[in-house]
Amino acid sequence: MVRRQIMGVKSMNERADLQSRWLRTASDSPPFRVSFEFFPTKTPQATETLFQTIRRLEPLRPAFVSVTYGAGGSTREKTQEIVKRIAKETSLKPASHLTCVAETRENVDAVIRDYWAAGIRQLVALRGDPPGGAGERFVPHPGGYTSSIELVAAIKRIAPFEISVGCYPELHPDATSFEANIEFLKRKVDVGVDRCITQFFYGEDVFLRFLDKARAAGIKVPIVPGIMPIANFKNVCRFAKPAGATVPDWLHKLCDGLDDDPDTLKFVASAVVTEQCLALRRAGIDQFHFYTMNRPELTYGICHMLGIRPEPAVAPAPVAA
Ligand SMILES: Cc1cc2nc3c(=O)[nH]c(=O)nc-3n(C[C@H](O)[C@H](O)[C@H](O)COP(=O)(O)OP(=O)(O)OC[C@H]3O[C@@H](n4cnc5c(N)ncnc54)[C@H](O)[C@@H]3O)c2cc1C
Repeated sequence: MVRRQIMGVKSMNERADLQSRWLRTASDSPPFRVSFEFFPTKTPQATETLFQTIRRLEPLRPAFVSVTYGAGGSTREKTQEIVKRIAKETSLKPASHLTCVAETRENVDAVIRDYWAAGIRQLVALRGDPPGGAGERFVPHPGGYTSSIELVAAIKRIAPFEISVGCYPELHPDATSFEANIEFLKRKVDVGVDRCITQFFYGEDVFLRFLDKARAAGIKVPIVPGIMPIANFKNVCRFAKPAGATVPDWLHKLCDGLDDDPDTLKFVASAVVTEQCLALRRAGIDQFHFYTMNRPELTYGICHMLGIRPEPAVAPAPVAA
C-alpha cells in the first residue's frame, strides 16, 4: 500500500506525513508478537550453527519458535530432538510441526503423546508434503490420517495442545477455488485451532484480502502472516509455485540478478519485507511468523526495524543461604 501511495504522492506535505508515519510505526506502536520458524539440520555442525541462530534471536522474546517436519515425515527424529533441546536449553517455547504423511495413526499419536510427556505444549498441525516434496500429489498412508482436519482432531483428543495450522492467501495448489480454500480452512479451525499461519506472500494486499474473506467466513482465530526474508532470491522463486505463493513482477524487478551481489540483495530485500510488515502493522496486524531459513541476520534486522529490541535475560531467583 505504502509503495503505491509513494508512487502516487504529489505534495511535499503528503510526503513528509508518510515519512513520519513510517518512523512512528516503528517507535510508538504498542508491542506485538513474533514467532520464528527453523528447519531440522542434517549434521552435528549444522545443528550447532542452528543453535547459534536460536541464541541470537532468543532475546527478541518470540511468543514461540517452531521446527518443521521434513517432506514425507523424513526428519521426525531430528525434529523431535531439536524441539526438546530448545525446551531444555533455552527460555523459548518450542512448537513442533507434525504431518500426516507416510505414517500410521498409531505412530502419529505416539509422537503427540511423547511431546506432551516431554512438556511440549504447542504443535503446528499439517497435512504435509509428500516424500517427493511440495508439488507431488498427496496420497494418504493406508492406516494414516487423511487430512490436516483429522490430525487436528487427533491432537485435541490426546491433550490440550495449543494448535497452529497452515493457510494459503494465494490458494493452495490442491484447492479447487478461493471459496473451497476458505471453506476448508473454516472446517479445520472449527475442530479446535488456536491460530492460522499463512504461507509466505509478497504484497500486504494479498494478505489483507485473504484476511477479509476469512473473517467474512466466520474464522475468528488469529491469522498470522508468514514472513519470508529474502536471503536468496532464486530459492524464493523456486519455493514459491509448489507452495501456492507467487513472486510478483515488481519483486522480480527489484531482486532479479542480485543473487551474485548478496550485500545489495540483503539491503533491498530487508527494505521490501520491512515495508510489508509496517504496512500490515498499520492495518492492525499484531503477530508475525518469520521463516528464518535458520539464519538470524535478516529476521533480527527486520524485527529491529519494526521496533523489537532484545530484552535482558530474566535474573535467576536468589538462592537461600
Ligand atoms: C506455516 C506452514 C508450515 C508448514 N510446515 C511444513 C512442515 O513442517 N512439513 C511439511 O511437510 N510441510 C509443511 N508445510 C507445507 C504443507 O504441508 C503443504 O502445503 C501441504 O501440501 C498442505 O498442508 P496443510 O495442512 O497446510 O494443508 P491443508 O489445509 O490440509 O490443505 C491445503 C488446501 O488444500 C485443499 N484441500 C486439502 N484437502 C482437502 C480436502 N479434503 N477437501 C477439499 N480441499 C482440500 C484446501 O484448499 C486447503 O486449504 C507448511 C505450510 C505452512 C503454511
